[in-house]
Amino acid sequence: MDPNCLFCKIVARKIPGKIVFENERVVAFEDIAPVAPTHVLLVPREHFASTLEVDLSRHAVVGELVQVAAQLARERGFAADGYRLVFNTNAGAGQTVFHLHLHLLGGRTFRWPPG
Ligand code: AMP
Ligand code: ZN
Repeated sequence: MDPNCLFCKIVARKIPGKIVFENERVVAFEDIAPVAPTHVLLVPREHFASTLEVDLSRHAVVGELVQVAAQLARERGFAADGYRLVFNTNAGAGQTVFHLHLHLLGGRTFRWPPG
């Protein structure tokens, strides 16, 4: 855990978060400023900054983030309609919290290309 990291603090329940799924490896919680009817953030318990730090030892947990997101999409009823998964990486892509997280956005339609 990084004591200065917001998402590490949510994972450790040192600050409040609306956790919707967790297991030994990943935690999912509601985004505090949702941009879609469903906006969930999925994070590994392990702290690392971004997709730039994904190596072979982390393939499984990154895949699990995708799998859990798909399961939430099914449970929430928008899997068939479609949903968006986003990893923002570094400032130019809008990353503001430097603990890897996968955005699950669902419940509305999404335009392409994104802004
Ligand atoms: P990103 O811009 O990709 O780094 O995404 C960071 C996300 O974290 C944003 O969508 C924020 O709304 C969200 N966020 C910031 N603080 C919190 C918090 N305390 N609890 C839940 N989500 C948060
Ligand atoms: Zn962290």
